[in-house]
Amino acid sequence: MSKRDYYEVLGISKGASKDEIKKAYRKLSKKYHPDINKEPDADEKFKEVKEAYEVLSDDQKKSHYDQFGHTDPNQGFGGAGFEGFGGFEDIFSTFFGGGGSRRRDPNAPRQGADLQYTMSLNFEEAVFGKETDIEIPREETCETCSGSGAKPGTKPETCRHCHGSGQLNVEQNTPFGKIVNRRVCHYCNGTGKEIKDKCTTCRGAGKVQKRRKIHVKIPAGIDDGQQLRVAGQGEPGFNGGPPGDLYVVFHVRSHEFFERDGDDVYCEMPITFVQAALGDEIEVPTLHGKVKLKVPSGTQTGTKFRLKGKGVPNVRGYGTGDQHIIVRIITPTKLTEKQKQLLSEFAEVSGTVPQGEQEESFFSKVKRAFKGE
Ligand SMILES: [Zn+2]
Ligand SMILES: [Zn+2]
Repeated sequence: MSKRDYYEVLGISKGASKDEIKKAYRKLSKKYHPDINKEPDADEKFKEVKEAYEVLSDDQKKSHYDQFGHTDPNQGFGGAGFEGFGGFEDIFSTFFGGGGSRRRDPNAPRQGADLQYTMSLNFEEAVFGKETDIEIPREETCETCSGSGAKPGTKPETCRHCHGSGQLNVEQNTPFGKIVNRRVCHYCNGTGKEIKDKCTTCRGAGKVQKRRKIHVKIPAGIDDGQQLRVAGQGEPGFNGGPPGDLYVVFHVRSHEFFERDGDDVYCEMPITFVQAALGDEIEVPTLHGKVKLKVPSGTQTGTKFRLKGKGVPNVRGYGTGDQHIIVRIITPTKLTEKQKQLLSEFAEVSGTVPQGEQEESFFSKVKRAFKGE
């Protein structure tokens, strides 16, 4: 495609003044601005106008153009003869006075995105760990095109609009002067590549959504809210970069009667007041099976007993926590006549002050307080 003459593009004569050039550019850039003009060739026209103005508004470039036309390698993006001028980068910075801010190379290898998966576990599964398969939806490299997005046998080409940089300079006239903004190239979505013949499997994306089965080893002792990193099981990388990681976040369901605090487990155990008073050996449940516990005579409600090593294995392998048994003394509610009689006799011989209370009992303290002593 041969390039149109810059003066022709702007609709002005060769002898046009700076003001005329500027006016023509303003008029045409407004007319073809892709945000305003929805005609299919508006984009192309807009770029053409911009390019023409960039050359004709610069004294040095204009004189070069007037002398050499499009054949001069310093002029125009599509011009021939890039060699010997340091390639596109140099021309780019010549035009835009850039070179200060470094643009990110869209072709550099980049790591893929991390993925997160929430897994629900029951109490015991979290305590003892388990191995399981999970199915996660994730993006994978398209096998048909090996990720290039181009039909097999073809290759993606460098984007004509951003010349592979993935970014475009958008010029704006403001009351303070001309401002050049860098934006992601919307023709190639910042990839710097243009695919003419798209792969039919992935429609040019180079990636496809798949449900992938992943084997996960859940370590014993995992707790609610903790996460496990499965390296390399995230989404694929870009331009040959490594894949991201998969993070499995655990939600642990609560237990009917065990409560967990770190590696320790708490459990309440009801006992009768007779067991508490006389002492007994009771059977208590632990995560590791039933265990016998000696309740000494005179045990109070709320007393805590520790069963060493009967808690949760530490997730990092630092031993095992303990189980704590908290006894609750249950007051009987339905008494037979015989029981009532025995308890009355018991009360008679023991009086109304609870046994075990010393001289300064709770009750005498209360009495004293009321008398104002
Ligand atoms: Zn493909
Ligand atoms: Zn582009």
